[in-house]
Amino acid sequence: MSDLDDLYQEILLDHYRRPRNFGALPGADREVDGHNPLCGDRLHIAVRLEGDRLAEIRFEGSGCAISTASASMMTEAVRGLPVAAALSLADRFRALVMGDSPPAAAEELGELAALGGVRAFPMRVKCATLAWHALRSALTGDGARVSTE
Ligand code: ZN
Repeated sequence: MSDLDDLYQEILLDHYRRPRNFGALPGADREVDGHNPLCGDRLHIAVRLEGDRLAEIRFEGSGCAISTASASMMTEAVRGLPVAAALSLADRFRALVMGDSPPAAAEELGELAALGGVRAFPMRVKCATLAWHALRSALTGDGARVSTE
């Protein structure tokens, strides 16, 4: 393990143990349930919009360490962003964990780069992307339910 791996591991564990923006969001504009049958992860994402800005986002549910940490980090990364910027971040995150992102791009992703290691484990990629699928669906109004399958 390199020092960077240790740091990433610590970031993930911290988000798993103390998820940020966890809980119900009263007055949510859109809510989406996400399910990853392969692992059993279930997430509920709720967002409140102000104009074209993602004013508030919270999540609930239960899942493995990767899916929970990813959801926690996702909420922190996108809260307050314009919807277009949040969707673009979702694209860049996807590229990171699918392994088709240029190495420099990881730096722009800040803490989210800690999840880049899942690209070596295809099953884990679904855990890491579940929250982002749900976010996309909530922001584009594509439906109230997403599944990684
Ligand atoms: Zn999982």
